[in-house]
Amino acid sequence: MSDKPVLRIGLIGTGFMGKAHVFGFATAQKVFDLPYRLELHTVADVTEKAAARAARDLGFARHSTDWRELVATPEIDVIDITAPNALHKEMALAAIAAGKHVYCEKPLAPRAAEAREMADAAAAKAVKTQVGFNYLCNPMLRLAREMIAAGELGEIRGYRGLHAEDYMADAAGPWTFRHDPAGGGALADIGSHALATAEFLLGPISEVMGDCITMIGERPDGKGGSRAVTVDDVGRAFLRFENGAQGSVEGNWIATGRKMQHDFEVYGTKGALAFSQERFNELHFYSTADAPGRRGFRRIEAAPDHPPYGRFCVAPGHQIGFNDLKAIEVEGYVRAIAGEIPEPFGFAAGLRIQRLVETIQRSSAEGRWIRISA
Ligand code: NAD
Repeated sequence: MSDKPVLRIGLIGTGFMGKAHVFGFATAQKVFDLPYRLELHTVADVTEKAAARAARDLGFARHSTDWRELVATPEIDVIDITAPNALHKEMALAAIAAGKHVYCEKPLAPRAAEAREMADAAAAKAVKTQVGFNYLCNPMLRLAREMIAAGELGEIRGYRGLHAEDYMADAAGPWTFRHDPAGGGALADIGSHALATAEFLLGPISEVMGDCITMIGERPDGKGGSRAVTVDDVGRAFLRFENGAQGSVEGNWIATGRKMQHDFEVYGTKGALAFSQERFNELHFYSTADAPGRRGFRRIEAAPDHPPYGRFCVAPGHQIGFNDLKAIEVEGYVRAIAGEIPEPFGFAAGLRIQRLVETIQRSSAEGRWIRISA
């Protein structure tokens, strides 16, 4: 048994992300020399069956059907929220009030005003926070950012980013929490990832011109009837960045055939980058320094030269996976809790993304460019 201090986790929600977070905790502990030993203390879900099964399968010592029990448990250090979006605020505020660190899935909250409340509360209590923008943890995105910052692409002129999937393409698919008018829609759900990546690579967006479209106006309500959908199925925006670059971004959950197209292209005066999350262990680089007749995008494969890839695998080109991105996210967060580094993507950063989403939605409704207010 290690002599490291223990960080006890209370997990809320045991669906797609709940499981991914547990993989993240388990793997992070094995591949990184973390400042804490992570302990899976208690897991909560709405039914006894789901909570008990999660405790058994995922390795938590205890389970509960009431998330408030976790917040009220003094030994728990971190409340990890992977429940639906509309519940994030209430859960996070309760956890912060109890002095817990909070790890929360994106979006931080359905509305920017709520996200602001959460960010302010976390700052006032000086607890450490993390929002689940895991795609930013990819070593190849970190490489792309380094190359851009080092001037390898020259002056950046253009950016194209998107996050497209097809999980809502079937009009017969039921109404879900993702269709809630408060904070739902493709732009908020997955366009938010594309916006986070755009700013991660190029720095702040200064102005947006949005176009948000609802293509499927009603969905089965699961009770034999139907329910109106008012949120966007596709949210697009033209962007102007503070560094002078211009570009576009798209969130699209009815992109038939696309499963994980979290992609970007960056165009500079000396070169370009192209990336697709569907092949996320690769970054494609085009250099104008190559001789005419020899130019083309070259594929850089993820390798131990791209930290922290080597922590997972000693061999280049063998690839890391989606859950490994969560492990990298956990590593950063745990180091922030220990005070070793600033929060990699805390609640203030989550609030920034919410504000971008809402400004794009407002721009679409008003049909005009809008500056991102400070
Ligand atoms: P999901 O439906 O698979 O899981 C949600 C879980 O929360 C379920 O186990 C559900 O029973 C539980 N839950 C609901 N109400 C609860 C309550 N009151 N108390 C305790 N548990 C409760 O959904 P998901 O796909 O895992 O999405 C969850 C969150 O993760 C959302 O905010 C979503 O936006 C986010 N998400 C992030 C990513 C990413 O890549 N970072 C990917 C998918 C989803």
